[in-house]
Amino acid sequence: MGYANTSQVGTGLRQRLYSRAFIVGSPSSPSDRFVYMVLDTQSGDTAIRNGILEGLKGLGSAYSMYSQKNVAVTGTHSHSGPGAWLNYLLPQITSLGFDKQSYQAIVDGAVLSIKRAHETLALGTVSAGSGKVNNANINRSLYAYLANPAEERARYPDNVDKTMTMLKFTRASDGKSIGMLNWFATHGTSLLGNQTVVAADNKGVAAYLFEQDVAASGNAAPGFVAGFSQANVGDTTPNVLGAWCEDGSNQECKLEDSTCGGKSQDCHGRGPFFGLNDGGVKSCYEIGKRQFEGAKAIYNSNGFTPITGSIRSFHTFVDFSNFSFQLPNGTTVSTCPAAMGNSFAAGTSDGPGAFDFVQNDPGAPSNPFWNVVGSLIAVPSAKQIKCHQPKPILLNVGEAKVPYDWSPNIVDIQALRVGQFIIIVSPGEATTMSGRRWREAVYNKAVSSKLVSSATPPIVVLGGPANTYSHYITTEEEYGVQRYEGASTLHGIHTLNAYINSTLTYLPYLADSATNASPPGPTPPDNRNNSISLITGVVYDGAGIGRKFGQATTDVSATYTRGSLVRAVFVGANPRNNLRLEGTFAAIEKQNNDASWTQVRNDKDWELVYEWKRVNGVTGTSDVTISWDTSITSPAAGLYRIQYYGDSKAVGGKITSFTGTSGVFKLT
Ligand SMILES: [Zn+2]
Repeated sequence: MGYANTSQVGTGLRQRLYSRAFIVGSPSSPSDRFVYMVLDTQSGDTAIRNGILEGLKGLGSAYSMYSQKNVAVTGTHSHSGPGAWLNYLLPQITSLGFDKQSYQAIVDGAVLSIKRAHETLALGTVSAGSGKVNNANINRSLYAYLANPAEERARYPDNVDKTMTMLKFTRASDGKSIGMLNWFATHGTSLLGNQTVVAADNKGVAAYLFEQDVAASGNAAPGFVAGFSQANVGDTTPNVLGAWCEDGSNQECKLEDSTCGGKSQDCHGRGPFFGLNDGGVKSCYEIGKRQFEGAKAIYNSNGFTPITGSIRSFHTFVDFSNFSFQLPNGTTVSTCPAAMGNSFAAGTSDGPGAFDFVQNDPGAPSNPFWNVVGSLIAVPSAKQIKCHQPKPILLNVGEAKVPYDWSPNIVDIQALRVGQFIIIVSPGEATTMSGRRWREAVYNKAVSSKLVSSATPPIVVLGGPANTYSHYITTEEEYGVQRYEGASTLHGIHTLNAYINSTLTYLPYLADSATNASPPGPTPPDNRNNSISLITGVVYDGAGIGRKFGQATTDVSATYTRGSLVRAVFVGANPRNNLRLEGTFAAIEKQNNDASWTQVRNDKDWELVYEWKRVNGVTGTSDVTISWDTSITSPAAGLYRIQYYGDSKAVGGKITSFTGTSGVFKLT
């Protein structure tokens, strides 16, 4: 999912997206196990989670221990992936509905990653470490953060969490590491809303660099997996140079409302390489690299704490449309049916103007989806308006049920535990201070209820957005300010406390003595089979008169010096004919001494970019451009060629694979 902008339509692939699965289990009790998934997606979601759980069931009885209770589906919060796979209508609107192909690719990859983790489970140890990662996040909603009590803010050195917390998994048989999973909060918005080539944003880069580095060192087990999980991401941004007015004034945006001359459109966050006009590509790589380097420093340190004890998990659904509970001070309060406030439409300095809403625009929205459903938005009742105060309701999504639910009212409450390490699995994007309060509440309860041994104090992390996408979670004070994050806090001013209350209610299910499963709670709607889809399929591809699919129309030069950009254009076909899962659309091959060829780069590599462009809709012709930036890593000198793997669709519907090969070029 991109920036909720209909004009942002995918045109290629910079870095293939992955699912990374971590299974932690007890050797003596196979049912004591959990799966923590890190998907290169905007979030976890009800649709894909249901698909994953069904997929696991389909794998047979050997997988029967994986269930609703112990599978956590989190997303890295990349804003540069394909959309149209979410369960509820609101995030479907700008991607023109729900697309089975997009959905199925995510589910299939996720299930395969669990299968691989399951098949390679090995006896070993888990240990935890942490350290600071500098210059990879700042607060994009400082004015709201400053509304939190001064005494509370004074307890923390920064206005975002700079700490990365890490689990290391070490195999007993040979002492080699088989994986690493960390939590660190920074938005997946380094790549900007004006770029349309798929990538996993900065966390995709970080995971890629870590896995490459570990593979090169030879110290870890083959197949080592590095998970860079998102944390309390809500008010963080990777655009660390701050938000500036791009209206020629060269002023910082107004602190209170991130405007320039009264408008949000000109206010943009700047990444470390702002000014290159590259859609944020270089900044994205840099923010990924900073997380990779931070993770590597922790990974190589001696400060790891052994994690020992039971493995437990719980999951339940709670209906937040009217959830009554007691605040710590004894007052009884309630949540409200979901609603979005006015500032939701303004977007953020990472991506102004969400969902085709432009402030003060007298024209009708141009998105055809609004024509289908635009008139069906529910009018909020007086009770609903009061419940959400001080949020002015823009979209009464929680009471909009036609043609199906617009936003989740029923949310996932889940936590996982291995020994003294507790993972809160958050459906929403908790802000910095929300995450701190939530973690602290769990920490305190874990201590006071003796959930973990007093000899090993709890280590609590928060991962998300996960399981269902419930937008944002702010503190009450931040909610009072009603910036984007507060306006997108779905269930009213008590949303955060409702999450904390629910987590604490079910926390006893993480105790050593807990044997029962947590109650399932109400079942959320499953919209996979009744969602609108306005996305049309591939009609047909044509090569064009006198041309063949895969033919190079602009070939490579004979020689390139290292550091230059190598590029070839081929007669292409629509990549949606075959997503080439587990395969590649593009490759660089290097010639060996015996004249044979070896693939040295493919479409998982950041430096190799695949772009597709429909040239003529009537003839069905298209161009595929494959470019290799040799300035990022330093590839060896030698003879190389580009391979393009495509699939064309004939008028009758038959899909045929083909390969295109560039001329040979010398890299000097
Ligand atoms: Zn976000």
